[in-house]
Amino acid sequence: VLELKDINKSFDSKQVINHLSLSLNKGEILSIIGPSGAGKTTLMRIIAGLEKADTGHFFHYGEEFDPRDRQNHLVGMVFQDFNLFPNLTVQDNITLAPIMVNKMDKQIAVKEADKVMEQLEISSLKRSYPYQLSGGQKQRVAIARALQMQPEILCYDEPTSALDPSLVDKVKEIFFELKKKGVTQIVITHDHRFGKAVADKVLDVKAAGSFE
Ligand code: ATP
Repeated sequence: VLELKDINKSFDSKQVINHLSLSLNKGEILSIIGPSGAGKTTLMRIIAGLEKADTGHFFHYGEEFDPRDRQNHLVGMVFQDFNLFPNLTVQDNITLAPIMVNKMDKQIAVKEADKVMEQLEISSLKRSYPYQLSGGQKQRVAIARALQMQPEILCYDEPTSALDPSLVDKVKEIFFELKKKGVTQIVITHDHRFGKAVADKVLDVKAAGSFE
């Protein structure tokens, strides 16, 4: 579903990503593991189209594409700090982009949000605001929101960093559920054990620029 060829990225004179190539099949989970500052977030931001690679090529089922083209909704992203809108309820956080960006009818967006909230067991929180939620609940709202755009590929930046161990298992379950549905997932993590437990493929970043 996704192939990256010879991606390079530098900030000033510092090479952060050095001739990286990788490919992912539909439904696979890739864990990107490695120390702080190694370039994991930068790689994810490039895949999600939030950052421009200096050089390199991207293919979706063999067809070259530009991740910075926001029209394709190929890649969704769940941010480390969740990036929820503090002044909106859980339901509005989830339905905002489908309504505003995809021009989805509001009633349909609400119905779709109900489905995904049920799946992630956050239906009872729909009228709550982000500040009223625990880390694990915010995490699931962020996942629900990303899923509403129906991306083929879903990226997570440190999805377990704010969670206690029982919630980490819950996140694992969510990953495997989505995998069954054919969603391809890319996970950045410091947590080797979690990364290896969920992954079909592991990208180990030893130090800046030396992806293996
Ligand atoms: P962490 O696990 O701490 O989040 P990371 O592996 O995700 O680290 P990145 O955030 O990708 O690392 O950063 C990689 C390197 O690139 C760091 O040295 C960082 O200082 C540098 N860097 C990242 N973004 C920028 C930017 N916009 N401008 C300049 N340098 C940057």
